[in-house]
Amino acid sequence: MKHIRRVDDSLVYDYFGGVSQSKCVCYQCGHTSFSFEPFLDLSIQLESGPSPVSEHFLRRASMGNCETVDQILRECYVDENVEQLNGNNQLMCVKCKKKRDGIRAQQVKVWPKILALNLKRFTATGRKLSAKLVFPHTLSIKNLRYRLYAVCCHSGSESFGHYTSYVCVHGTPDETVMQKHFTVTEEKDIKTDLKSPMMRDLKNMWFNCNDSYISNVDAKEVSSVVEKAYILFYF
Ligand SMILES: [Zn+2]
Repeated sequence: MKHIRRVDDSLVYDYFGGVSQSKCVCYQCGHTSFSFEPFLDLSIQLESGPSPVSEHFLRRASMGNCETVDQILRECYVDENVEQLNGNNQLMCVKCKKKRDGIRAQQVKVWPKILALNLKRFTATGRKLSAKLVFPHTLSIKNLRYRLYAVCCHSGSESFGHYTSYVCVHGTPDETVMQKHFTVTEEKDIKTDLKSPMMRDLKNMWFNCNDSYISNVDAKEVSSVVEKAYILFYF
């Protein structure tokens, strides 16, 4: 299945690529089919809309509860996210050769080295959602442990707004590989060597990047942007 992740054989897929599995079951004959899709990020829905969102999550969201990213991840991507296929949305069973009632169950099968979570703050009609979504600094998924290292934020409305970001200087999933690919050699003034004394001093510090201003901030400030966070990066 790993070859699906590396669908375009690029460094981007090496780091961000994962694979999701979709299983369809026909209620009539029991025929089960599987399909696999590569992804570079996972969507986190903030309100009811097209799948992947479980009915359980929708019910809680409609009650106005503040959701947490790890809850949604677990319900939509770690556990099987089951969707009933019936009415106008029946599945085409290849064995019955007819449209039948059934289910589609989706879950992530290969988790990426860097997990990018796209919080769906803009609806299909362009409306901005400012729902609060709590996100943890660490995520445990099966035998994997991810650490938050960047948060892109959007402030403003659907008509105008401003993008800022928070970045933490951790190590990287594979410092050697990252150094090999990202160390700038042409411009001698820019030092990106992660083992240099300068980078060691910066390790585990959070920075807020706002246009040309970069300031050191507390990790608590990062956790507080529950209405502005737009894309989360974990590794
Ligand atoms: Zn069938």
